[in-house]
Amino acid sequence: MVYPIEYLKGVGPQRADLLKKELGIFTFNDLLHHFPYRHIDKTKILKIADLTPAIEFAQVQGILALKEEIGEKAGRRLVAYLRDETGIVELTWFKGISWMQKILKEGEPYVAFGRVSFFMGNRQILHPEIELKTEMERGKEVLEPVYSTTEKLKVRGLGGRQTGKLVYALLGLLSKNDIPENLPQPIIDRSRIIDRFTAYFQIHFPKDLHQYNEALRRLKFEELFISQLRLALVRSERHRLSKGVVFKKVGDLFNSFYKKHLPFELTSAQKRVVKEIRVDTASGHQMNRLLQGDVGSGKTIVALLSMLLAIDNGFQCCMMAPTEILVQQHYRSVNEFLKDLPVTIKLLTGSTKTVERKKLLLALSEGSIDILIGTHALIEEVVQFKKLGLAIVDEQHRFGVAQRALLWKKAVVPPHVLVMTATPIPRTLAMTAYGDLDYSVMNELPPGRKPIATVHRYDTQRTKVMDFIKSEIHLGRQVYIIFPLIEESAKLDYENLMQGYKNVKAFFPEPKYWISMIHGRQTSDVKEANMQRFVKGDTQIMVSTTVIEVGVNVPNASVMIIESAEKFGLSQLHQLRGRVGRGAEKSYCILMTSTKIGADAKQRISIITSTGNGFEVAEKDLELRGPGDIEGTRQSGALALRLADLVKDKIILEAARVFAEEIVEKDFQLESADNLRLKYYLLSLKGKTPWSKIS
Ligand code: ADP
Ligand code: MG
Repeated sequence: MVYPIEYLKGVGPQRADLLKKELGIFTFNDLLHHFPYRHIDKTKILKIADLTPAIEFAQVQGILALKEEIGEKAGRRLVAYLRDETGIVELTWFKGISWMQKILKEGEPYVAFGRVSFFMGNRQILHPEIELKTEMERGKEVLEPVYSTTEKLKVRGLGGRQTGKLVYALLGLLSKNDIPENLPQPIIDRSRIIDRFTAYFQIHFPKDLHQYNEALRRLKFEELFISQLRLALVRSERHRLSKGVVFKKVGDLFNSFYKKHLPFELTSAQKRVVKEIRVDTASGHQMNRLLQGDVGSGKTIVALLSMLLAIDNGFQCCMMAPTEILVQQHYRSVNEFLKDLPVTIKLLTGSTKTVERKKLLLALSEGSIDILIGTHALIEEVVQFKKLGLAIVDEQHRFGVAQRALLWKKAVVPPHVLVMTATPIPRTLAMTAYGDLDYSVMNELPPGRKPIATVHRYDTQRTKVMDFIKSEIHLGRQVYIIFPLIEESAKLDYENLMQGYKNVKAFFPEPKYWISMIHGRQTSDVKEANMQRFVKGDTQIMVSTTVIEVGVNVPNASVMIIESAEKFGLSQLHQLRGRVGRGAEKSYCILMTSTKIGADAKQRISIITSTGNGFEVAEKDLELRGPGDIEGTRQSGALALRLADLVKDKIILEAARVFAEEIVEKDFQLESADNLRLKYYLLSLKGKTPWSKIS
């Protein structure tokens, strides 16, 4: 299978070069995996009278009645007429005229195939494929594969359909030994899929649509199953082999906080996740958990309880967030929650002053700080803990995998890691892109939350919107007004924001109203001061760019206005909306746009206004944009799927996942008679057996 493609009959060095350059086909194996993108149905022979403009391709059969060369120069062509008992179709060639002249015999029966067109009311097939009926090979009545190709290949006789001849020749050389089964028989039986060899044959040359679909299902299943198996093996290896610090007990801090200081009852989702973390961290193996919760589902308190668990067991913790505003907010709320407990909490950001930083780093290395909250500054090399037991990463999508890995290195035995993301990722995507992590979902909001009324308003309705804001402010609520920020046009956005600020101010003059403003050009001190004024309720309106996008929690704010909403992505809109509806008040999100917006933007806005559920938004986002672009996913090999589609093949993926987990649970070494195939196959993928490079 690793044979170079030029060894295939009909290829030769020149075509081989082109196949390599144009399509990346180097070996027999590559060609085998060059799947057709569609098939043409040549199983039917139509009556000529039945050719109508609605038919794209057709195969007809009849007697060649007459052929003649007509026209001049560029219009010169060979025309032949094929007649059956129902009518006549004109066959026309502009190229290869003399060759066709030579081989076509009047009065003989032919079968012709091609794209049907109508010219001056006459049925016509331009450049048909044509064959003497008597010479037609048997078995030709199949669905004929069409392959992607390029202009250069076409010129060399390797058009979309000619490639099929090569593949056909290749398949003729292969036996079951060349494409051995790689899935355990019980799985094949239980999922009712066809065998591997047959699947490869039928995906190229199916007899009918049913055969094609069977082949496709088998190969998609195989693809998803193998990737799920590999991820399950990674998880299993970590569960078995990784060393993790042990949080033996649930101690005093945890208990007294839980019983005396926790201001509300945990939701059942929160309880479940705390329990999962509790089990993980007591296991002796390193926890590596992704916590997904919709905005406002209460992830912070879960993080806090986990940290108390660590401190009770004599360990230090750190919590990392992507922006200084968020870090400040966590610092304040953690302090507030723990104010009556003997826990030392410190803050480290880029703007921590040198003297203070020195003191802090010393205390940290001596172990007298329990919780360190900070930005990226946390992962710098100089930050050394005495005994780090738990690292929490909040609003994870702003951090890369590599940055997380740096956290691990801060202790001899790597700390437990809890990654929290507020951008829900569709389950299918999480299963593939984060399949090596353990995975918790909080799909429940704290009780008493009212759904956020989300509406779309045009700029022409601005006065009404402003009046609405006014009425909400008079009820004692606060309002966010968000302007877009796009890196490439930062200057323009800045001017936009300033203009917007002026407009808002005209509606809401001081001293009756006060406005905070935050944007990227401010120093972090100024940002923080402006944020604080809003948090304390000194200002009623916050005008901002998207710097407040994630995490910010001001429960009294009940209105979110998003200006130029068409410029935001779905998950961003959902994040922004999540800034309101955090208190008991009825909340509103108003998406402002001009009347001229594109179809895409309209669609996004209609999705956001129709559902408040972040997981649903994420599913739609995946459908609209495909997995590559979804925020919060890493580009990973796991996403490089050849056939399967995370949107369309959800059901196959779920099944593949269940089977993969079952196998790893029972036999992670893949040693049972049934599983040996898998073992060899995985080894072959690593190039460790001669049976290499299939798939
Ligand atoms: P997110 O998951 O978006 O980070 P937060 O942790 O900021 O959400 O929580 C949102 C708000 O809900 C906070 O004000 C928090 O105190 C509150 N909260 C969290 N859990 C509960 C609960 N079980 N019952 C009531 N309020 C809760
Ligand atoms: Mg949060």
